[in-house]
Amino acid sequence: MAGSSNSGAPRIGVLALQGAVSEHLDAVRAARAVPVAVRRVDQLAGLAGLIIPGGESTVIGRLAQEHGFVEAIPKEAARGMAVWGTCAGLIFLAKDIKGGLPGQPRLGLMDITAVRNGFGRQVDSFEADLAVGGIGGRPFRGVFIRAPYIEQVGAGVEVLAEFDGKVVAARQGRLLATAFHPELAGDARVHRYFLGMARKTP
Ligand code: GLN
Repeated sequence: MAGSSNSGAPRIGVLALQGAVSEHLDAVRAARAVPVAVRRVDQLAGLAGLIIPGGESTVIGRLAQEHGFVEAIPKEAARGMAVWGTCAGLIFLAKDIKGGLPGQPRLGLMDITAVRNGFGRQVDSFEADLAVGGIGGRPFRGVFIRAPYIEQVGAGVEVLAEFDGKVVAARQGRLLATAFHPELAGDARVHRYFLGMARKTP
């Protein structure tokens, strides 16, 4: 199967240009997939899924554009690679951005409007227990750091979690977006959920 390693475990990339990369690599390993730190577009070949980490969306966007990822990721997504954006990654994945820099590079793959720094700036970082659809069981500890929220979702988008009346997790087919940082929660359930998305044959 495309995207599988020799052991049969799916290969999951983490876009490693800037941001919370190593925590995601560890969480992918904890979810029993094979993590790949992706720095060049040729490393996208054969991935079952790609995680775009938190960090700074303007920086990730600029570096991604310089390295050819803004063209390459949508192509791989069209052949079936699942894509998950966390925090800054959510902004980079969104069709529309409010509060971004003019011309800020983005993938524009997911039919959502992201409100950048929607919960306020660094001082407004916080944690909250969330009911996240699809992961089952007890609440998930959401770590929010200068987090965006999702203001509008298109017809094909399923809302997975809300906080304070705002959408903070959503899915559209093989695309996943979380405003918080599941890689910092010490709980691999959202990573396992993404693995389930990535495993399904498109
Ligand atoms: N506010 C940041 C941005 O605009 C996102 C913060 C984060 O990823 N923790 O990209």
